[in-house]
Amino acid sequence: MIDLHTHSLFSDGELAPAELTRRFEVAGYRAFAITDHGDQSNIDLIIPRLVAFCEEHNSRGGMRVIPGIELTHISPESIPTLVSRSRELGAKLVLVHGETIVEPVAPGTNRMAIESSADILAHPGLITEEEVVLAKQRAVYLELTSRKGHSLTNGHVAQLAKKTGAPLVLNSDAHAPGDIWPAAHLQDLVVGAGLTEDDYHTMIKNAEYIVQRCLTSKI
Ligand SMILES: [Zn+2]
Ligand SMILES: [Zn+2]
Repeated sequence: MIDLHTHSLFSDGELAPAELTRRFEVAGYRAFAITDHGDQSNIDLIIPRLVAFCEEHNSRGGMRVIPGIELTHISPESIPTLVSRSRELGAKLVLVHGETIVEPVAPGTNRMAIESSADILAHPGLITEEEVVLAKQRAVYLELTSRKGHSLTNGHVAQLAKKTGAPLVLNSDAHAPGDIWPAAHLQDLVVGAGLTEDDYHTMIKNAEYIVQRCLTSKI
């Protein structure tokens, strides 16, 4: 199993990277990404530390950990610069905190995240069909999530992705040990959003592809 969206205590998660990693390992995951909330004030603090942790951890084999960032509540016009800056700082995976219906995320965030070629648009809320088509064209993955609140629009995102062929991934957005989704129920979450078992397997392949891309990228 793979999870590409989690938080450590470098933002509002409960655990340090080492314990978060151990918890995912024990839960049976073989790769996961730490993607703390970032903005103009902190990406230069968070990303190099996550990079250092992941390099040391991955040098010993076993579960792969990917250093990432979730650009969160930044103005849409600042997104392109911060996506680039995050990659320069060493983030292998750049998420943008999308227009969830349970927070006042600035309108235009979804579109700018896609146009900036972020890797994953997290919890995109009531994303439009036009934006979903654009995500497909730009190869930006859209997220289904097990996170309470954000998950309320999984069905909407799933329906539009299915209709247009846009790529999906399934993440936990874990902030605490109890948020690590049990393997046996991951497929239920996808089927519950109106998709099929085959769609679930496609999502697993998408996550595997992203992990490979992260682990082999030089930047
Ligand atoms: Zn988020
Ligand atoms: Zn998050």
